[in-house]
Amino acid sequence: MALLQISEPGGKSSAPAHRIAVGIDLGTTNSLVSASCGSGVEVLPDEHGNYLLPSIVNYSSSTEPVVGIAAKERLVDDPKNTIASAKRLLGRALSEVSNTPLFQHFDFDQEQADAAPAIITAAGVKNPIQVSADILKALVDTAESCLKAKLEGAVITVPAYFNDAQRQQTKDAAKLIDLKVLRLLNEPTAAAVAYGLDSKDQGNVVVFDLGGGTFDVSLLSLQKGVFEVLATGGDTALGGDDFDHLIADRIKQAAGIQELNLMDNAKLLSHANSIKHQLSDSDSVAVDFLGWSGSISADEFKQITEDLIKRTILTCRRVIRDAKLEVEDIDNIVMVGGSTRMPVVREAVEEYFGKAPLTDIDPDKVVAIGAGIQADVLIGNKSADDFLLLDVTPLSLGIETMGELVEKIIPRNTTIPVAKAQEFTTFKDGQTAMSLHVVQGERELVSDCRSLARFELRDIPPMVAGAAKIRVTYQVDADGLLSVMAEELSTAKTAEIQVKPSYGLDADAIEQMLQASHDNAKADMEVRALREAQIEAQQLIDAISSAKAVDGNLLSGDESLQIDAAIAQLQALFEEGTSAQIHELTEEINRVSSGFAARRMDLHIGEALKGETIDEVEQ
Ligand code: AMP
Repeated sequence: MALLQISEPGGKSSAPAHRIAVGIDLGTTNSLVSASCGSGVEVLPDEHGNYLLPSIVNYSSSTEPVVGIAAKERLVDDPKNTIASAKRLLGRALSEVSNTPLFQHFDFDQEQADAAPAIITAAGVKNPIQVSADILKALVDTAESCLKAKLEGAVITVPAYFNDAQRQQTKDAAKLIDLKVLRLLNEPTAAAVAYGLDSKDQGNVVVFDLGGGTFDVSLLSLQKGVFEVLATGGDTALGGDDFDHLIADRIKQAAGIQELNLMDNAKLLSHANSIKHQLSDSDSVAVDFLGWSGSISADEFKQITEDLIKRTILTCRRVIRDAKLEVEDIDNIVMVGGSTRMPVVREAVEEYFGKAPLTDIDPDKVVAIGAGIQADVLIGNKSADDFLLLDVTPLSLGIETMGELVEKIIPRNTTIPVAKAQEFTTFKDGQTAMSLHVVQGERELVSDCRSLARFELRDIPPMVAGAAKIRVTYQVDADGLLSVMAEELSTAKTAEIQVKPSYGLDADAIEQMLQASHDNAKADMEVRALREAQIEAQQLIDAISSAKAVDGNLLSGDESLQIDAAIAQLQALFEEGTSAQIHELTEEINRVSSGFAARRMDLHIGEALKGETIDEVEQ
């Protein structure tokens, strides 16, 4: 597998940047923009000196949307027109999100149920793509006024587990504001790039990224500034917000509050968030809410968040297992995301890995800095040879074959970008079209995998079964988008599809699919063997029946009876028999029909040779 090179830490200072490109960390809670500023890549502050832009947009009137801190202030007073955590809505169906606590207070436009969830605001209907676009616009404005130059492009980061639809919608958001996306980059990979600048770590590194709404773990193998991504895992529905909700629940419980109106609920959440931050620096925090006074201690916080913490550690364990490593093989753990400031998180990580995690780079800035470095390379200010980032596919990508079986084309955890091709053939004589079904998952049967797309290759010249050659190529680009192409090789007829699964593949779904494949491994193998035996048997029965229709006169009466009896026996067992029994009867049919097959071959070779010299035949 190819290795990749990160620029030498402390190496040559970069040449003056002629072209301006930025790195954008489009976060669930906060977003940042960075750029190369001569001496290195820096996160750019807005005119008030803030480098964190809250990923919140307020649409209270038909004039310009209000983005960032000003919008955050309106969360409490104007919750119906103020959209936070829009990143969680990207690539989702309305039905998936309209009842989740974060979004249940919005009025959704039901008419657009199949498209991105559309929220009705005072300034019109806004979907998460528009919200993301407005956040991107604010970041671009910050960068352009800070750098006093026009931007030529951006690298935007996304969680490692974002699916095609989520990635595409991120790109669509940039398109809405005419921002050229140089590349989408996985957040953990960007963090590794940022650390590559400052340290010369060797060995295996886990990037532990716990943000406001998402959690990602990546395992990278680092050697003298050269690294390779070995495996990734995560949970798109776990982040700092969940810790806030637990504190809010605890306060409600302690204060005996049953129901809260919208405004008080928003107040409580913001209060809970502030308590969580204070608990990162003190052992106990006083709470005053709606006339109730009390306190929450660090120990209590640890206790109520135990399950969330356990989930993060379980993900680390799985990623290490996927990379076929042991926890002892991990040399460094890089902490990314504001939530890794919580001592409970750091302690749990330290306890599991048996060593203290690295926290030297500001966990809020790491991803943006990495994206900025990558943007600087892609816009042409540095040699691209020095940077080549590798990510991996979270689940296998395959194709449906006869018997509703799955043939894996790109296995899980393959480094991307990647292209792989495999040849297939027709099942029936004279077949002129082929239906291709692209699936994702680890199981042997199509019904147990995720269906991504279907398309057809038409105008295949009619040939006998098995003679046509169809090459199917799967290509996953650097952004994780899958293109599938099918080509009939004799006519060069092609059909192609770009796969955009409609809705979310989140970490829970991945976890369930992996677990199911593990639990069913033996049963799946048996089913596969049975289906393959059935297909082989059916093909033989079909071939004999078409041979009899053409050359029935070559059969003796006895032979014909014997073949028919063996076929009848096989057909009786077809559904209920085991793969071994079906296999045995298939062999039996082969045996009793071998004389017939030999006579047919003699006859047809004889016909083919008529009128030709041996030399001509040999040519
Ligand atoms: P991000 O998506 O990386 O911007 O993550 C922001 C999350 O980090 C939010 O949930 C914040 O509440 C959380 N966070 C930031 N600073 C702290 C802190 N000092 N202690 C606990 N959580 C924090």
